[in-house]
Order: sequence, then structure tokens, then C-alpha cells
Amino acid sequence: MLKCRDVVNTADQLLDGDMNHRQLLAIKMHLLMCSHCRRYVRQLRALLRAIPFMYKKASDTEVSKVMEHVHSHRDNYP
Ligand SMILES: [Zn+2]
Repeated sequence: MLKCRDVVNTADQLLDGDMNHRQLLAIKMHLLMCSHCRRYVRQLRALLRAIPFMYKKASDTEVSKVMEHVHSHRDNYP
């Protein structure tokens, strides 16, 4: 069984679709049972949609906004 830490560590792969069926199934099983990780994945997904720096360079304002967001949620996770 996956731990929350495993979900957090592989969340970027999950969002990239860079994951095999077995891993994907394990993550989905965990998300079904764990509201912390559901929220984490949802926030990460929203964050990736919101930031353009995957494609072009972000401004300092955008970067600090994202970092603020990340830091404000980081404490919720082990
Ligand atoms: Zn979890």
C-alpha cells in the first residue's frame, strides 16, 4: 500500500501522465481513501494550470505568488 509520501513524490509523474498502469492504480486506490492526497493532487493540478513557466519564463511576481502558495500548504503534509 502506498504512503502519502509516495503519492507526493510521484504526483508530478501522475500529472504528466508519465506512469504505468500499476502505479496509476496504486495511486488511485490511495486517493480514494485519503482526502489529504486528493486535496494535494487537486491543488498541484490547479497550480500547474495556473503557472505558465512550464512553457515560458515566469515573471518574479508569478514565481513569488506560486512559492507563497506552495509554502502555505506544505505544512499540511508529513
Ligand atoms: Zn495520502
